[in-house]
Amino acid sequence: MSVKVDPNLMKELKHFGLKDANKCFHCGNCTAVCPLSTPENPFPRKLVKYAQMGLKDKILAAPEPWLCYYCGDCSDRCPRGADPGETMMAMRRYLTAQYDWTGFARRFYTSEAFEVIAVSVVAMIIGLAFMIFHGEVITDRVALNTFAPNWIIEILDWIMAVVLSTVLLSNALRCAQFVFGQDLLFKIPIKYYIGEAKDGIINFLVQKKFSECDDRMQWYIHLLLFTGYVSMFTMVVVGLRWLQRDYVIDPAWPTVTFLMTVVGWYATLAIMYASSYALWGRYKKSKAPYKNSHGTDWMFLVLLWLTSFTGILVHLAIWFEAPLFCYVIYVIHLMVAIPMLVLEVPFAKWAHLAYRPLVLYLMAVKNRYMAEEAKAA
Ligand code: SF4
Ligand code: SF4
Repeated sequence: MSVKVDPNLMKELKHFGLKDANKCFHCGNCTAVCPLSTPENPFPRKLVKYAQMGLKDKILAAPEPWLCYYCGDCSDRCPRGADPGETMMAMRRYLTAQYDWTGFARRFYTSEAFEVIAVSVVAMIIGLAFMIFHGEVITDRVALNTFAPNWIIEILDWIMAVVLSTVLLSNALRCAQFVFGQDLLFKIPIKYYIGEAKDGIINFLVQKKFSECDDRMQWYIHLLLFTGYVSMFTMVVVGLRWLQRDYVIDPAWPTVTFLMTVVGWYATLAIMYASSYALWGRYKKSKAPYKNSHGTDWMFLVLLWLTSFTGILVHLAIWFEAPLFCYVIYVIHLMVAIPMLVLEVPFAKWAHLAYRPLVLYLMAVKNRYMAEEAKAA
């Protein structure tokens, strides 16, 4: 079978943050020290070589970029300063753009101006919508659900969740087709997919492979960010009527609103701590994964931080009964949170939370299927 070579691949990958891969002289040190590399799926040297040789199809079909958690061990030990960890990161950005059929992810990753304009436009639309359609402004007490009725926000939430999930799922299907091949994806009997589903879900929730890296702090931070984000997303989509309220503890729903308050504080503080840690690390360039930040890394973390911070301010405004401040900060909160959701979930940094566990799950399904086939032969 002939192998297609793309002479512009290195140039193309540079748009996605690739920097020093050309310095690599293939000593193999990085693959030897990577705690997640295996004989069946050795990386990152192999991927660096694919990039240097312009083997685009090999990169598209490779699961390895998604097996890397960017702990940075390989970059720290590379004798040439070729930063193989960052090469793997650049490949994940590149692959995210390849999976996205809308072409939006590519624009987002390759143009910082486009990224800033897209976020600003969505934020302005939200602000404008509130200026025109907000409810009555009651100033003698907090009446957030009169200003912005939670049943309307809940319907809009659901519309947004369905649209985002559809785009993300269609992109995830393209990811599966690239990595697995169309034929194999539909040839494997459904029982293998069901058999591996439980481990797939656990891996999605705790990303236990990440804990095998030497720098466990990165895993803890990731776990905090992930659990905080998923708790908040779930509360916003399925429990907004209890989350957005006019009292700290709603007398009509005391137990539910108390639980919402506790989980809400956990989620916002977890996200704030983890995003502050990552932002500070990137600012100080404190370790290998933080040395070469892409514009999208900054944008994601800043939006996350601001979403949590303004969310806390809304809660405090209700607590201290400051109605006008509450309404203004609520609008600002949505002007930050909605661009983050509609742009980051299907098209940018967030999407790796879907692609990485999906590829790990598909690999487990494939391995089980192959093993059974070999036994039967
Ligand atoms: S990236 Fe660095 S450590 Fe890895 S093979 Fe190349 S030179 Fe060696
Ligand atoms: S960053 Fe860590 S997980 Fe990724 S290839 Fe390097 S050593 Fe392996």
